Amino acid sequence: MSEINRAVKGTNDVLPDESSNWQFVERQMLSTAALYGFKEIRVPVFEHTEVFLRSVGDTTDVVQKEMYTFDDKGGRSITLRPELTAGVIRSVIENGLVNGALPLKVCYVGGCYRYEKPQAGRLREFHQFGVECVGAAEPNADAEVIALARQVLNSIGIDKISLEINSIGCPECRKEYHKALKEYFSANKDKLCGTCLDRLERNPMRILDCKSPVCSEIAGNAPVVLDYLCDECKKHFEQVKSYLTAMNIEYTVNPHIVRGLDYYTRTVFEFVSGDIGAQSTVCGGGRYDGLVAQMGGPSVPSLGFAMGIERLMLVLKNQGKELPSADKPDLYIAALGEKAQLKTAELCAALRADGFKVETDICGRGLKAQMKYANKIGAKYSLVLGDTEIGENSASLKNMADGEAFTVKLDILSDELFKIINEQALNSLEDLISNNL
Ligand code: ATP
Ligand code: MG
Repeated sequence: MSEINRAVKGTNDVLPDESSNWQFVERQMLSTAALYGFKEIRVPVFEHTEVFLRSVGDTTDVVQKEMYTFDDKGGRSITLRPELTAGVIRSVIENGLVNGALPLKVCYVGGCYRYEKPQAGRLREFHQFGVECVGAAEPNADAEVIALARQVLNSIGIDKISLEINSIGCPECRKEYHKALKEYFSANKDKLCGTCLDRLERNPMRILDCKSPVCSEIAGNAPVVLDYLCDECKKHFEQVKSYLTAMNIEYTVNPHIVRGLDYYTRTVFEFVSGDIGAQSTVCGGGRYDGLVAQMGGPSVPSLGFAMGIERLMLVLKNQGKELPSADKPDLYIAALGEKAQLKTAELCAALRADGFKVETDICGRGLKAQMKYANKIGAKYSLVLGDTEIGENSASLKNMADGEAFTVKLDILSDELFKIINEQALNSLEDLISNNL
């Protein structure tokens, strides 16, 4: 196939039959976030490269291997966002939102770009839903953000997914930890990959997140950060756990979680699914108390998370979960002849203005083909309009599911349709109730 007929490697289309699932999931995300006071923020798909170098960290996989970076025609270095936190914090600082009421709570849905090896659950263009809570230092903020992620997952029907938490401390307690890591990894220096040899000097904690099998095996026995936490960080972590318990949120402590981005401090967490193979982390997040200051803003403790929507969809599929299907058309009007077509156009306009989903023939088909199409698209009702019906101001409305017919007046078609739809809904509700009694 030539390139013109082929999507770029690692990108996916969301086809019309799948888009209602995406709309449902995104609606659940934004409306659940709203329950906790998070408002949507929209930021550009690309930023100055510096935005990501400063925040994500120049020893991370994302910056070292995965960014789509190019010079624009004005010679600026531009990068397609590999994640949204950096751009959101850039915007929050630039627009002075940090000077307003704190905490500032924002959420987003958007595409991300990483040059990775495409495989199940790993794409070059993927989508994230995430939240950022800026200006909240207390441990109950950590618990709220985790609770929100949990509720989002529940709201789309994912209940079988585990929460793993850890604390990676603050820059103070990490000094000792870095020393211990350096010592440990130096003893295994000859086995580490090239990238990790560089990390050993600059940021040994990053080795813990290396995907190479040899490095990760060595990392498995490395000292764990929980043993190096200072009293304040220890206390914070204990309190986060108490709040999670109070909110009835199950978790396990996994001392090996460090997260793939440099900006995290103290609490880090992941929601991990056993149903989607190797790329099992659906949601990752944590605290990033130093990030806002690091990006040139005031020092405000903050936290957030991001969920990969494609991985979420994979969990839903592999767990056999059905999402509510898209609404079918309320009515299909089949028109016979030019006069009927004009009348149908008038009726369609009026019905749609009243909020009904209505379709009619726009391909010049005969009656049989029109009805076949009405069936295909799953129209709930149909109506055939010819000269006779127009002359009598009356037509027969057919329920496509059971064939029941209703005589309706054309000049009040909207009212008639409204009445019939509601009566039928009421009847089926009564049936449901009496069957359950
Ligand atoms: P991984 O360890 O799987 O590479 P990560 O640590 O790079 O993940 P984050 O940067 O924390 O991931 O991004 C948050 C979430 O975004 C991930 O948990 C995942 O669900 C999703 N995600 C990250 N990279 C990809 C990708 N290339 N394709 C699809 N989803 C992704
Ligand atoms: Mg990654």
